Amino acid sequence: MQLYQSQTLKIHNSLSGKKEVFKPLNEGHIGMYVCGPTVYSNVHLGNCRTFMSFDMIFRYFKHLGYKVRYVRNITDAGHLVDDAEDGEDKIAKKARLEKLEPMEVVQRYTVDFHNILQKFNFLPPSIEPTATGHIIEQIEIIKDILDKEFAYEKNGSVYFDVSKFNEKHEYGKLSGRKLEDMISNTRALNAQEEKKNPQDFALWKKAEPQHIMRWPSPWGDGFPGWHLECTAMSTKYLGETFDIHGGGMDLKFPHHECEIAQAEASNGQSPVRYWMHANMLTMNGKKMAKSTGNNILPGEIFSGDNNILSKPFSPSVVRFFMMQAHYTSILDLSNDALLASEKGHHKLMDALDAIDHLESSNSSDFDIESWKNDCYAAMNDDFNTPILIAKLFDAVKFINIAKEGKQSISAPDKIILKEILCGFVFEVLGLEGKTDEAADSDKLSGVVELLIQLRKDARDNKDFATSDKIRDQLASLGIQLKDGKDGTTFSVL
Ligand code: AMP
Ligand code: ZN
Repeated sequence: MQLYQSQTLKIHNSLSGKKEVFKPLNEGHIGMYVCGPTVYSNVHLGNCRTFMSFDMIFRYFKHLGYKVRYVRNITDAGHLVDDAEDGEDKIAKKARLEKLEPMEVVQRYTVDFHNILQKFNFLPPSIEPTATGHIIEQIEIIKDILDKEFAYEKNGSVYFDVSKFNEKHEYGKLSGRKLEDMISNTRALNAQEEKKNPQDFALWKKAEPQHIMRWPSPWGDGFPGWHLECTAMSTKYLGETFDIHGGGMDLKFPHHECEIAQAEASNGQSPVRYWMHANMLTMNGKKMAKSTGNNILPGEIFSGDNNILSKPFSPSVVRFFMMQAHYTSILDLSNDALLASEKGHHKLMDALDAIDHLESSNSSDFDIESWKNDCYAAMNDDFNTPILIAKLFDAVKFINIAKEGKQSISAPDKIILKEILCGFVFEVLGLEGKTDEAADSDKLSGVVELLIQLRKDARDNKDFATSDKIRDQLASLGIQLKDGKDGTTFSVL
């Protein structure tokens, strides 16, 4: 028997706005599609949060014994600047600015994406398809939508006819918008626009002569609209209807709304049974975003080379910080929050190390069965990782008391406690224990903090020769000290 057979998992479905009991289409199997990155720049920590939420969800499904086909794509064409309908492709723009081939840009940032995700201990998806690898499939879907008269061609471009679709279907049902409101809130089309209505969106765009990313099609040379790739790849690998589609909240409209419209127009069926949306990571209360500059790169956090944090933080500590919030809640990044997460992370790992050293008794003061059920109940309630972590800390508290000999645990309970704790900490949350690297980095932090204190003492005593020597010698070792109003911080370059 698999674990999932004894658990009732509930998922918040963005389409119904309710928590629903999860039942996959085919028992024991799950098809999950998550919109991947547009590979035109380094992933920032905000992007990582969304992918990490789905990595945790993927991990829990696997932990429950499901066979999961997890598809997460790479957007390497069709995503235009400002998510607009007109304008330059984000990748082509970067290629133009850096004098590179578009595929060089794609390669560079796909490699960066994989490196960062590996540092964060992500599990690889089952399939990672690219938009440019599925142009033929996208053209076939456009032909199908044209045949069904939910799209029209204009000057070598093809547009989805939203009003026509809305006569028989409901455009806006995912994002809770009404087409009539959208129409009354938008400006009139300007004379150059080819669309019948401002709400119509491109399935295929004619490539102007200067557009370097182009493919032949029945409508001439062009490129696919951004929304189409996800319909093509999810249908190809998961079928016309599949279990779960995820992405960041900001993709609900127009991207996911358009995906629903394309799929329903082409095959008459609602493509997704459970829509899941992960909430945003903010910094200084504002959404972390590439375009506004309000962002931090994971590498800058791991090295401490940034102006926001007082010291470097390990990938597992950052991951723990993310898991302490529910995936549907907004999470704000700050130095204090990361320091608190680091403390919690160490406490959790220390408790795990201590289990083996606990003395076994004839009886237990810890109700392991009810604790285990509480842990599963937290995860079964729409993947509530903050509640799960609170439960894990109930066990940490018990272990620390037992360590002092003030409470006892039986030998069989000790085995179960370790197994369940490790299962949730490593398998489900994806945290990493004290790797040699993390332990070394902790030691280095301690030594540098000590030198910072000695330098301060020297300066207070006006012994500038010593204080400068400490700063310069650390700099020659690649450790940079920065003096600020809240004291001295450091980064490892
Ligand atoms: P993009 O590469 O722009 O297509 O975005 C990749 C993913 O990152 C999408 O699922 C976005 O919803 C998500 N994302 C972008 N900014 C943030 C943020 N500040 N917090 C969480 N997720 C984000
Ligand atoms: Zn998508």
